[in-house]
Amino acid sequence: MKLRQRFFIFALIGSSPLLIVLPACSSMTDNLPLIQETSHARFYSPNEHAVNSVASLAETFEANYNRLIGLFPYEAKDKTIIHVYTDRDAYQAMIGRDTEGTYDARDGIIKVYTPADLSDEIIRHNFNEQIIHEFVHLLIQQINPEVGHLKWLDEGIAYYAAGQLEEEMQSKTSYFDIPTFEQFADHDYFNKAHGAAYFYSGLMVKYIVDTYGIVTLNDMIRQPEQAHIQQLLTMPIDQFFKTWHDAMLSK
Ligand SMILES: [Zn+2]
Repeated sequence: MKLRQRFFIFALIGSSPLLIVLPACSSMTDNLPLIQETSHARFYSPNEHAVNSVASLAETFEANYNRLIGLFPYEAKDKTIIHVYTDRDAYQAMIGRDTEGTYDARDGIIKVYTPADLSDEIIRHNFNEQIIHEFVHLLIQQINPEVGHLKWLDEGIAYYAAGQLEEEMQSKTSYFDIPTFEQFADHDYFNKAHGAAYFYSGLMVKYIVDTYGIVTLNDMIRQPEQAHIQQLLTMPIDQFFKTWHDAMLSK
């Protein structure tokens, strides 16, 4: 079917062309000063003013660590390497795109922009959530790098497991921008829909967990091939999408 083929292409292409996993290279962290080391992570930053921000990120990271390695369940054998930049322009120039956080599968390092001043409670909360979001990407892409090619699954799980979905569900009063299957399967959906793409991908992940269980989601992460996903969902992808879409409309 045409639509299924489109979904398959989407599944294969995703949005991240560079997913060659290279071993973490220590020389890539050598030029950044170590700001803080915790039980499960090392935080580096080129900005000496990052100390307070790093302390906040580190506390959040450790507070969520056991929950997340239990949720998927997976534990990296090495400490997580996190680079924290407090200069947004310099960060984006280095990353090469308009973002504030990324898990770089090429070197296995989480790289985030975080303001040096986190005294505003909402700002602090949002950037603390971001570090959790990126750590989820690290976990699930280390379990299977192929997950990085399936953007709705990769971003949906990160948005769901970081608690960002739950928060948006509480504030969002209508689901007027719920995508059609064609929109959702478009490989450019995230660029076109922006925040809504994260929200609806997160809702789909939540629906999978609520309907099929976390074990099924973990199975998808480990074997994200379309045939296997359809087997787990016990129906073709487009049929599953319709079931989910109807469930969302009745909210
Ligand atoms: Zn993400």
